[in-house]
Amino acid sequence: MIKKTSDSFKRYIPQLIIGPMLKMIEAVFDLLIPLFMKSIIDLSRNAMMGLSPLYGMNAISRGISSFLLLFGNWVESPTLNYALIGGTFILLMGILGFLTTMITQYVAAKTAINCGCDIRDALYRKILSLGKQDRENFGNSKLLTILNSDTYQVQQGVLIFIRLIVRAPFLILGALVFSFLLNWKIGLIFLTIIPLIAFVIFGIMKKSSERYLFIQGKLDDLSTKTSDSLQGAKVIRAFSTQEREEKNFNKKADAYYEEALGVQKLNAWINPLTFSIISLATCFVVLFGAMPIFESSDNSLNTQLASTIITEISYLLQIFTTLVQLTNVIMILTKASVSMKRIDEVFAINEKIQEKEGAISSSLEPGELLFDFDHVSFSYKEGGNEALKDLNFRLEKGKSLGIIGGTGSGKSTLIYLMLRLVDASKGKVLYKGKDIKDYPLHALRKEQSFVPQKSVLFKGTIRSNLLMANENATEESMIQALKDSKAYEFVSKYDDFLDHEVEEGGRNFSGGQRQRLCIARALMVNPEVIILDDSTSALDLLTDYQVRKNIHDRFVNTSKVIVSQRVSTVKDCDLILVLEGGRIIAQGDHETLLNTCEVYQSTYESQTKKEAD
Ligand code: ADP
Ligand code: MG
Repeated sequence: MIKKTSDSFKRYIPQLIIGPMLKMIEAVFDLLIPLFMKSIIDLSRNAMMGLSPLYGMNAISRGISSFLLLFGNWVESPTLNYALIGGTFILLMGILGFLTTMITQYVAAKTAINCGCDIRDALYRKILSLGKQDRENFGNSKLLTILNSDTYQVQQGVLIFIRLIVRAPFLILGALVFSFLLNWKIGLIFLTIIPLIAFVIFGIMKKSSERYLFIQGKLDDLSTKTSDSLQGAKVIRAFSTQEREEKNFNKKADAYYEEALGVQKLNAWINPLTFSIISLATCFVVLFGAMPIFESSDNSLNTQLASTIITEISYLLQIFTTLVQLTNVIMILTKASVSMKRIDEVFAINEKIQEKEGAISSSLEPGELLFDFDHVSFSYKEGGNEALKDLNFRLEKGKSLGIIGGTGSGKSTLIYLMLRLVDASKGKVLYKGKDIKDYPLHALRKEQSFVPQKSVLFKGTIRSNLLMANENATEESMIQALKDSKAYEFVSKYDDFLDHEVEEGGRNFSGGQRQRLCIARALMVNPEVIILDDSTSALDLLTDYQVRKNIHDRFVNTSKVIVSQRVSTVKDCDLILVLEGGRIIAQGDHETLLNTCEVYQSTYESQTKKEAD
């Protein structure tokens, strides 16, 4: 179970250790190759000048040269001979280095992608498990950025960690040590420039990484804006507010652009600055290295020095490229650590709606109470305005409950309490006689079938959408559900019938068709209660009536909760709640309410009058 980002690395500890180790082999070869080159030059020179093979060499060169001498003479000419033997070893090291690189690159890529997948999986599961409020507090767009962009940053972090985290410092340190061993004066030059370059690079990096968190925030803003505009594209066009939207979008995009450009400008200093330092250092290396040549008349010694300078310069270039690589490493790791923090914020959300341990489900006999609301109040924000105030009502098993009220009166919120998508702020919601918080969540979800106010269909086919509710459903039961919800009328006209495509969000269906398909999906199971949140608003009165009648006839022992703004939709219910401003202002059956509740009465009258017109 991944509870924070770092948990996902635990599975890959072997790869995270072996990968960098393999990269070390390559680094050792990288360090050895300049020394081999030097030995070839020195050996050839000594042979040409007729000196003893190891004349004038320092300890390292002597060691490598003695090793090369072991292989004897491959050809007549001694210069060509050493070039051939040394060249063979350099080639071998090159090939071996290449092979280990291939392996580590593969291990690194695989581990990084696996890690990324694990994090994304766990994150996705966590996001799905979040309650309505937790998710809304965070914001969908930010969650999406974290799920996509931030997990990618962490993935890149893992990749670079395996490839370069050990190799880069090892190479720099190795090059420094060898430079000292070859010529301590040049070593001193190295010792001065490494901190200088590091200071430049890390100084700039520190500044730019501080701004990275800020940039990621700007990206959140931008994606919130984009997703808002995309969702509301039709409204924007209808109100001709494209220009204003565009301006708003540009403002956010510009803010992001400015920040990102600022960081890039800062980073752009790294290369020219470090390159100047390196160029200067090269001059010093040549100058210090060559000084004794001018002073001495020993030709062989001069060649030794020349070969040393060549080797030192190749180490200098190695240090330069590795330091630049290291900048990249640190930049990516900084981004990854910022992203890890953002991901961990999601993992750290303490889900408000949680299953109580040891909770057991139970069954009810007809006539017993399914729901019992006992002085229930609810507010979306702690200490904020109450969306529901002091609700008291009871629903028996098998009975139907109608909820009527204007928009914003709290109907949907009341449904969320029944579904335990949110928990009551005050009072108690009893489900089957138990506090709903003590009822197993998975059982609750199974026992309740819900059609939300906003029809939600998923990309796939009609069949795949119906099977979501009950994966073992037979073709007959699907047809039955479609007939009950009056969706059969249009579905049966499709050549591909149940396999008809459902596009993203069900956009290839009309509002009424979507509602009927959503109702059909809710009828695929045999629940304890069917909850329809204003789910027939887009249907004509006759279809609305037929759907309700079908549900009533087929689900006799099932309770029904029907939310509507239309009296005609709720009037046959056993109990009707009239909501206004989050309060139940009256409850009873249709007849009672007509006689006692003025609001109900006037609503009924205005609606029947309208229907008659
Ligand atoms: P209805 O379904 O009757 O139209 P709702 O239950 O959706 O009404 O909303 C009731 C009240 O709760 C509204 O006044 C609304 O401002 C508030 N509300 C609804 N959803 C949220 C939310 N996600 N966050 C904050 N307040 C909300
Ligand atoms: Mg509503």
